[in-house]
Amino acid sequence: MLIEIAYAGICHSDIHTVQGDWGKVPYPLTVGHEIVGTVAEVGAEVTLHSVGDRVGVGCMVNSCRECDNCKAGQQQYCLQGNTGTYAAVDRDGTVTQGGYSTHVVVVEDFVLRVPESIPYEAAAPLLCAGITTYSPLAHWNAGPGKRVAVVGMGGLGHMAVKIAHAMGAEVTVLSQTLGKKDDGLRMGADHYYATSDASTFEALANTFDLIINTVSAKVDLNAYLGLLRLDGTLVNVGAPPEPLPVGVFTLFGNRRSFAGSSIGSIGETQEMLDFCAERGIAPEVELINADQVNEAWSRVLSSDVRYRFVIDIATLN
Ligand SMILES: [Zn+2]
Ligand SMILES: [Zn+2]
Repeated sequence: MLIEIAYAGICHSDIHTVQGDWGKVPYPLTVGHEIVGTVAEVGAEVTLHSVGDRVGVGCMVNSCRECDNCKAGQQQYCLQGNTGTYAAVDRDGTVTQGGYSTHVVVVEDFVLRVPESIPYEAAAPLLCAGITTYSPLAHWNAGPGKRVAVVGMGGLGHMAVKIAHAMGAEVTVLSQTLGKKDDGLRMGADHYYATSDASTFEALANTFDLIINTVSAKVDLNAYLGLLRLDGTLVNVGAPPEPLPVGVFTLFGNRRSFAGSSIGSIGETQEMLDFCAERGIAPEVELINADQVNEAWSRVLSSDVRYRFVIDIATLN
């Protein structure tokens, strides 16, 4: 189906990709995998969406549909590799192009319904930042009685705080400084600590059931693992390009686990959108014009964004 794009979020992955941090770039390339818009045209066999529907597209636009993981409805973990929304070779051999654009064509079952109650201009970041944090929170059962820590208060981190709070967990933010403390508490955090203060790691030792690390840079994982209580899990959703060492003895203590999580399935992404609509949760966005993208990218790199840039695609025309 053809989607007329209204808004596209700016994700750190867009920058990593264009910089070649994650491998060779198939230029010419249009990035962007937080896309919302309206259905402009549908093919004869499309049944899930109609012209005029408000829809979204996230980080993947296809998968093999035949492997064990696809059959289990976990397309993001497709064993042949899911087809990324941009910079990937699609099943028909073309290189996929993302959302910093007026239109995109996507097969219907990789298109999400975006409820009208989610503010249109704020909906786009749910398609990556929202699902990337919702999926591990749901999988590791964040909820009443669970202590959840969120590392980093950026695009992903602020969504993790809102979602974990809405799920009923006790939420702690671990950020480099206390600069965004008021925002964090307003979004639903119960506690807020600075990781630049070494006493934080002593004070919070053996505390959390679940830690969501959203930071895409090198951090001392062993220091964070030490904050997990019995059977706690540290889940990385940030994607630093270099390997990070994990001390096995740190895992022995409290029977800790270290895990990764990658976006979420199509079904779970729809569940997340409906959850956010029901609970009145939306990303906090700074709307920009198309000619401000370069400036926005350098502000993302210096962590100077509250909390996600969204491009108003109407300014692209
Ligand atoms: Zn992303
Ligand atoms: Zn597959």
